[in-house]
Order: sequence, then C-alpha cells, then structure tokens
Amino acid sequence: MTDKDDISVKKMADLLHRGATMLADACPICDSPLFKVGEDIYCAKCDRRIVYAKSEEAVETQAVKTLIPELRETLIKKLKKLNELVESENDVEALTRLANLMVLLLQSLNRLENMKE
Ligand SMILES: [Zn+2]
Repeated sequence: MTDKDDISVKKMADLLHRGATMLADACPICDSPLFKVGEDIYCAKCDRRIVYAKSEEAVETQAVKTLIPELRETLIKKLKKLNELVESENDVEALTRLANLMVLLLQSLNRLENMKE
C-alpha cells in the first residue's frame, strides 16, 4: 500500500465517521469509491467534490469556479490538521511525508488563488 492510499483510507474512515455514506459509484478520475456527504458527492482520494459530468466545457469551468471557495476552505482545514500532526510527530520519516503533503496542499492552495478571476 502506498502512502497516498494510506491517506485516502484515513480520509474515507474520516468521512464515514462524519456520517457520510459510501456510494456504489466510483470516481471518474481515480476509480475509488465515492461518498455522499449531505448533498455532496465526494471523492476521498482526489480530495474533491465530484460534479457529475455535464458535457459542456463551459458548464464544467463554471462548476469548478463555484467549487473554489469550498476547495480553499477544505485545503485550509487540512493544513490546520496537518499542522497538528506535524507538531505531535517525532518520527523523521513520517515528518518527511507530512512535510511533502503540506507542500502539496500549499501548492494546491496557491493554484486555487490563481484561478480566481
Ligand atoms: Zn477520485
């Protein structure tokens, strides 16, 4: 099992814990099971809400744009959580993994900021 799988398994457990239900559908991007959280369909592995495909590209772009504030919030929440993990982690290897993840999250956040018009 890779680190990425490890993280997504943790996320899935987290989602279930928060009352999410696992759906029979798989994520169109990574093929892992989708979760229903409230009215949202969510992929734990991609760490994003799934908008069921509408063929028009413009519609998709719009859908992505409406997701930005939410994605941003999610990333910030994850970074806070990660910060707590880093604080209590003393294992060098684990810290390296956490630091890598932190960089990825920060890059994503940065990219989101650039997507705003
Ligand atoms: Zn996915």
